[in-house]
Amino acid sequence: MSTDKLNLLNYDRDGLAQLLTDMGEPGYRANQLMQWLHQYGQPIDAMTNLSKVLRQKLTENTVIAYPEVVSEHCSEDGTYKWLMKVGPYNHVETVFIPEDDRGTLCVSSQVGCALNCSFCSTATQGFSRNLTVAEIIGQVYVAVRRLSRDNGKHDRQVTNVVMMGMGEPLLNTDNVVKAMAIMMDDFAYGLSKRRVTLSTSGVVPELIRLKGMSDVSLAVSLHAPNDTLRDQLVPINKKYPLQTLLSVCRDYFPKHSRRRITYEYVMLEGVNDSLAHAKELIALFNNMPAPKINLIPFNPFPQSHYRCSSRSTILAFQAALLAADLVATIRKTRGDDIDAACGQLVGDFVDKTKRRERMLKAAQVKQDLQPELV
Ligand code: SAH
Repeated sequence: MSTDKLNLLNYDRDGLAQLLTDMGEPGYRANQLMQWLHQYGQPIDAMTNLSKVLRQKLTENTVIAYPEVVSEHCSEDGTYKWLMKVGPYNHVETVFIPEDDRGTLCVSSQVGCALNCSFCSTATQGFSRNLTVAEIIGQVYVAVRRLSRDNGKHDRQVTNVVMMGMGEPLLNTDNVVKAMAIMMDDFAYGLSKRRVTLSTSGVVPELIRLKGMSDVSLAVSLHAPNDTLRDQLVPINKKYPLQTLLSVCRDYFPKHSRRRITYEYVMLEGVNDSLAHAKELIALFNNMPAPKINLIPFNPFPQSHYRCSSRSTILAFQAALLAADLVATIRKTRGDDIDAACGQLVGDFVDKTKRRERMLKAAQVKQDLQPELV
């Protein structure tokens, strides 16, 4: 949307308070404004408990702009996938996964991704740009409204958000943290910190910064028990190897809090799924606060040369971890019939020129991250 007006969805509550103060209005009106925006989803002229003068100022200077849903797919298992347009040539995917006791929204943080994990389809797209706060929280805004149309028929509430869509959230930390603050704000979506999870491949300095900025839940994409293998699967490991990453994870949550990091481990046949790998993984967590390991069956995509480990291999791997007193769960694959499962999100089809541009941008980001390796 091309406009000079400020987008109200770009602001967390402190930001709205500042905006109102700048307009000569009391900052505490931010509470009401936030409710109108996020809880009631109403346009400015419907915000009846704000003065006419304030509504006029808001109309003159601001807009409420959110991503446009370009397509919607619903899986046989009830999973929704939306393709959302965030500007010319830029699209992201957002997925809603209903379960018996919760509804999880999987939200994107970037258009494409620069990290090039070898088993992830988003990597094949290259990198375009970071999403704004409005484009991140806008995915929640749009999904909540879309799902409420179904209410009465089904119980489809967004109770959890995971930053596990397209992109690396910790390469867009400031915008992601603000958007998560809106998710957790009682005047907006009111989700508890346990129900908002950021997933990272391990951008260590940003992880340290995140710890001081937000108390959301954390998932770390581990995928390998040693550096040689992790270097291949998650190339950012060359910059921040396992011991560097785990030393930050070790005291990420205060000991008394009983909160634990979830480590994600994608199961790739013949690559990282042997009992020897399980043993190495167990040794890696020696002297670490009890981790929770989430085994993710690999979801294939057209250009991938990996295969998912067999069910019996995954079960044996899990059994080895459980026998060593680690908590180990197996993620249920959802929405794979509509390519909405982990690692299958690619946004839109982009033409050849755009794709080249994005691959170049991804290479540039990688070079900025690890110049010594390029
Ligand atoms: N960049 C972030 C968040 C996006 S990916 C991160 O790396 O954590 C969310 C999760 O899906 C990560 O654990 C990622 O490694 C996993 N994933 C990626 N591709 C996958 C695939 N093809 N099959 C299964 N899981 C995959």
